[in-house]
Amino acid sequence: MFPSLMVSVKPTLQSKEYTASVCSKMRSELDKELKKVLQLPPNELTEWLIQQGLIRAEQKCHTHLDSNYQPIPFQLGIYSDSSKFPNSGGYVWVSECCGQRHLSVFAGSIFEGVPHTPKTILKLIYHWACQTSTTNIAQWVHVTMNYIKTFHTAMRAVCIASVHEKLKGLGGDKKDVEVAIMTLGTSSNDGRLKQVKVEILGVLDQEKNIVRLFAAEPPQKILGAATSAKRDYRQILRPLADWVDKRSVIVTDLSIDRNYLLELGFPSVKQSTARSDFVLRIVEYLSSSIPRSFQNVLPALNRPLIQQYLDEISWREAFGPSPLQAFKNFVIHLAEITKLELGCKKG
Ligand SMILES: [Zn+2]
Repeated sequence: MFPSLMVSVKPTLQSKEYTASVCSKMRSELDKELKKVLQLPPNELTEWLIQQGLIRAEQKCHTHLDSNYQPIPFQLGIYSDSSKFPNSGGYVWVSECCGQRHLSVFAGSIFEGVPHTPKTILKLIYHWACQTSTTNIAQWVHVTMNYIKTFHTAMRAVCIASVHEKLKGLGGDKKDVEVAIMTLGTSSNDGRLKQVKVEILGVLDQEKNIVRLFAAEPPQKILGAATSAKRDYRQILRPLADWVDKRSVIVTDLSIDRNYLLELGFPSVKQSTARSDFVLRIVEYLSSSIPRSFQNVLPALNRPLIQQYLDEISWREAFGPSPLQAFKNFVIHLAEITKLELGCKKG
């Protein structure tokens, strides 16, 4: 078993609205919809994928340009003998400029060049959205653990892109944004010695229930330095400048030196002075929900991999509180990426 497959990412911030019964009702709605799609013949499935934007609705030749120096669009064709392109039900892109050159309808999509049919890939997206256990996915969809690992890495890449694109400018004019830092570490068998693996910066938009998380290497202890030496918060707090609207009120505890917040351009800081003062939800989140996700696998993960999962957590909290929403929003976000014109020779 790959350690990365043992991280369990469960959205909890919106759990009040998404009770188990609401989620299972939405789940069966999703099951019904997907079942219909999986029963489509390959040509109709291709049409459905184009409608969803999961495969591209246009392709252009970048080698030959038209008289206005624009890339020449390919024509979508369908072979009456669908056995020629069985996975697409006969659909294929044809370029006339390149002498009837064929381009797969899956070019530039998540279905391109994979060892599985589009239906299998759709099932894998579905199980990723529903967070089916990996052993069950392997059995039900007939794919290897190694393939699931690779596939889930691709799923996370979509989450990372969407989170960076969509979850910024948290807070707003006089809106509260909670900020806290927590260490994530491992303990020895006797449960005593704790080795800090990473430090996590947690940022919570109180009103919208959006969370952003950043994993940083723990500060190096300098030999001989006084233990009371002031630490430098610049590195770990740096993402705040991108994530949070400067007009927000930063609500934090004593884990952060407020001078660094002022330095980053946040003039409005509310800091708890005593434990009883106010309770930060982000502290609760960082100390319970986050360690639970990485239970037992933390020693096998490095900082970049932990960061990938933190972004997946942010994505699921914002876009996938239930399997139905996770699937639908994932399809929308994947379609946005599929549409991007990559590898253009001319800008
Ligand atoms: Zn061409």
